Amino acid sequence: MAPAAQDAAGRLAAVRQRIADAARRAGRSPSEVTLVAISKTFTPEQILPVVQAGANVLGENRVQEAEEKVGHLPSSITWHLVGHLQRNKINKARELFALIHSVDSVALGEAIGKRAERDGKRMPVLLQVNVAEKETQFGFGEGEIAEAAAHLARAPGLQLEGLMCIAPEVEDAEQTRPYFRRLAALHRDLAARVRDAGHPWQHLSMGMTNDFPVAVEEGATLVRVGRAIFGERAAAPTAATAQG
Ligand SMILES: *Cc1c(COP(=O)(O)O)cnc(C)c1O
Repeated sequence: MAPAAQDAAGRLAAVRQRIADAARRAGRSPSEVTLVAISKTFTPEQILPVVQAGANVLGENRVQEAEEKVGHLPSSITWHLVGHLQRNKINKARELFALIHSVDSVALGEAIGKRAERDGKRMPVLLQVNVAEKETQFGFGEGEIAEAAAHLARAPGLQLEGLMCIAPEVEDAEQTRPYFRRLAALHRDLAARVRDAGHPWQHLSMGMTNDFPVAVEEGATLVRVGRAIFGERAAAPTAATAQG
């Protein structure tokens, strides 16, 4: 193997090992956790070795960036959208992505559902919760999520798969635990109502490079890991470029 491919395979294996260790610490099976490799800012040339090493679920935060990459990578990849989605990109997003992690308003959820229903389909989505209650972050407030979920559970064209959050940046990953615990509790509290309306509601998307082992201990079923797999990004995406 070329050195770059070896590095990619090694880093991917290390992340998978840490997921498995965290799952076992919590008495969970590692197979309950899907690794979403977040490839934003990386080129198809940089992404391919990670795919060849076995990553088959990839995540991007911008529709346009994903659109530019998807055709240059194997069609076996399942793509997820993890960033804020603009209304004018809904149809493109439905084409590219198997799951949208980032439904952050009732209006966006309804709009996605309407388009999907028109095609006789249901779009799998997660509802993003702004657990840190930060003004700079997208997502439903904790006080809004129950009503939003109940409302969107009745909207046609949506398949509600669960909740997603981005923990605040902290010095010690352990400090993220209360946020992940809170998201898991919200997910549990809403489960009966949303499932009764015909939705699977099985996912908790939480945990990134800095905190994914804690998230797995607290019940994550989808972890979104970028830097630990691909290496550091050249420049941190700004608020403007973080939009989907
Ligand atoms: C960039 C990003 C990630 C991955 O972050 P890393 O720190 O690179 O692991 C996960 N989720 C979302 C929503 C992101 O934008």
